Amino acid sequence: MASRRIAVIGAGVLGAALAHRLTAERDTSVEVTLLDRDQPGRGTSRWSLAWLNSNGKSPRAYHDLGVHGMAAWERLARRTDGDTWYRPVGNLRWAGTERGTRLLAERVAWMSAWGYAAELVDRHEAARLEPALDLPPDVAHASWFPGEGYVLTEPLIASLVQRARARGAEVRTGSSGQVTAVEGEGSGPRVVRTADGGQLEADTVVCCAGRWTPEVTRLAGAPGVGVPIVDPEPPGSSAPALVVRVGPVREAPVRVLHTPLVHLRAHGVDSGQVHLEAGDVTVDLHTPDHELDAWATTLLERARSLVPSLKDAEILARKVCVRPLPLDGLPVVGPVAGEGSPYVVVTHSGVTLGAGLAELVAEELLKGERLPALEPFRPDRFEPAHSTEG
Ligand SMILES: Cc1cc2nc3c(=O)[nH]c(=O)nc-3n(C[C@H](O)[C@H](O)[C@H](O)COP(=O)(O)OP(=O)(O)OC[C@H]3O[C@@H](n4cnc5c(N)ncnc54)[C@H](O)[C@@H]3O)c2cc1C
Repeated sequence: MASRRIAVIGAGVLGAALAHRLTAERDTSVEVTLLDRDQPGRGTSRWSLAWLNSNGKSPRAYHDLGVHGMAAWERLARRTDGDTWYRPVGNLRWAGTERGTRLLAERVAWMSAWGYAAELVDRHEAARLEPALDLPPDVAHASWFPGEGYVLTEPLIASLVQRARARGAEVRTGSSGQVTAVEGEGSGPRVVRTADGGQLEADTVVCCAGRWTPEVTRLAGAPGVGVPIVDPEPPGSSAPALVVRVGPVREAPVRVLHTPLVHLRAHGVDSGQVHLEAGDVTVDLHTPDHELDAWATTLLERARSLVPSLKDAEILARKVCVRPLPLDGLPVVGPVAGEGSPYVVVTHSGVTLGAGLAELVAEELLKGERLPALEPFRPDRFEPAHSTEG
């Protein structure tokens, strides 16, 4: 059934993009309320590399969802204030070993076969594409993905929320946005209760709570209702990741750069900062501060060795943040336990997918129809009856 009163819990990139899309038609019979216990955009989205890509995503349905997401941001950027948050700058990547270089070449061939812009370039072309780089002498080739880029999530989310509000959405933050319970049964309306004692009635409750999704779906009360995502708490969990922001930088890198040492891109509207991550950093929620400081220093040193204009840069921020990682690596989109239960949208790559998922989910909710593009990602795939084991 089509929904007219929709409560969206969580104002990260997914919830903000969805509230924005739900209000696109300015249909006054549709009531959208966006709730967040914090200010919008302060969760995982704030610290994301926010690289827009569908590079190596598999199976094909997931790859296509990524491509759809990239195109949706491009459309939105063109129609709105994209110059403040959209950076379609391409992505340059090279490997540190012969095997890694061979795998990159295979990736380029695979992506090209799927119609995704990908090519191998020699070191001269790589240096031309990224003037801020001091390319290591042993790099003969790099892969180049010209259709990729990144977004600046803070101005993006602020813009989405402000535009959703201007188009009629109600935005509740702080204690009036902190959801403490979701009550109701069957296909009837739900009552959403908030920490300030407030409440609202909704036909559909959409959970966009990222890493906090299991907590929020549990608030819906039904025993066993939850979405399996990687638990960030145990030591060695794969969900936490270290992000380091450094600056000032005289000549910021233009592209997204994936190198064997560090992954980086410019950060901030004036590009005075650079965002750093690396695949070999092993941290979890229990890593002591002195180890985090050591890793942050290591990443800055690695970045300086590639981008000389980071010579005077210092560590401005370092943060262990948590990726919302569904157990099978694929997005989870749909009612979590049958009709009337919270509609969940949780995924890694949520920045890439945000605008595209917002389009698809809004269509499902407003028309009351199931879209084939979302079928591979339904929560019921985790139910025992759908399991291929046993
Ligand atoms: C280091 C790192 C790098 C990444 N790199 C990329 C990348 O390059 N490309 C990409 O596409 N993705 C990337 N991701 C993943 C991407 O950042 C996430 O998938 C995305 O940000 C998730 O957005 P979200 O809106 O679901 O969650 P969040 O941004 O975490 O928002 C969830 C919101 O829910 C709110 N909330 C929680 N509980 C409640 C409650 N009870 N009541 C009300 N509100 C509540 C929170 O306050 C929060 O604002 C990366 C993630 C990390 C950590």
